[in-house]
Amino acid sequence: MTDTKPLKLQVENIHKRFGSNEVLKGVSLSAHAGDVISIIGSSGSGKSTFLRCINMLEKPHQGRINVAGEELALVAGPTGELVAKDPKQLQRLRTKLAMVFQHFNLWAHMTVLENIIEVPVHVLGVPKDQAVATARKYLAKVGLSGVEDRYPAHMSGGQQQRVAIARALAVEPEVMLFDEPTSALDPELVSEVLRVMKSLAEEGRTMVVVTHEMGFAREVSNHLIFLHKGLIEEQGHPSQVLSAPKSERLAQFLSGSL
Ligand code: ADP
Ligand code: MG
Repeated sequence: MTDTKPLKLQVENIHKRFGSNEVLKGVSLSAHAGDVISIIGSSGSGKSTFLRCINMLEKPHQGRINVAGEELALVAGPTGELVAKDPKQLQRLRTKLAMVFQHFNLWAHMTVLENIIEVPVHVLGVPKDQAVATARKYLAKVGLSGVEDRYPAHMSGGQQQRVAIARALAVEPEVMLFDEPTSALDPELVSEVLRVMKSLAEEGRTMVVVTHEMGFAREVSNHLIFLHKGLIEEQGHPSQVLSAPKSERLAQFLSGSL
């Protein structure tokens, strides 16, 4: 990773447990502008929990989060987890960290356009006509011009995920977080979503992507993290990590036996 570019995301020493289940045991990550970081690992290794801790959808027990140079102020909450000291700061930083989920999470009762302009208009205070213009721009970018008035249920999974990506883009985030964005799709719909993600990477967007798509990880990302039981077991440039894993566990994972 180049470190001459501005730091967009710095997450340090995240710990998280659910009851006695210690899911994250000190996980850190830094992303500079334009970095595409892929996170791989077995089911249950803590990938989603880590991504959700980055934007505080899960509250970590320990750790630091800095987004584009701004440190999120955290204080100990009543149950031992960290909570944001200032909800307004959390809301502001969250809009810099747009998330794309495995199951799209579009609002079913809203049209495509309404889904995309909701946060810009109602949270960020963007004037509606400007938000609509931005929505159209990003719909075109994901190859979906003309679907503004459709409802998510009437679209394919691949189209819904591309709407979710357009919605994430519409807040003009500093960093995009993807949690297995193609895992819920029928196989024939995976490539249209990966193509869009690749184009975002090529235009220099900063992305953290939890994925099982090793082709994507190898071709598109410039850093790869292998998470195992809540710890980073190995990381580095994907070409190196994937072709010559140092860890036995990663070798097993890559050969499909972990
Ligand atoms: P991955 O995304 O790598 O498959 P997860 O982060 O979803 O893994 O889960 C890691 C572990 O944390 C699993 O053991 C899972 O059961 C547990 N876990 C995740 N979310 C919760 C939750 N909300 N409550 C209790 N346990 C959870
Ligand atoms: Mg997961």
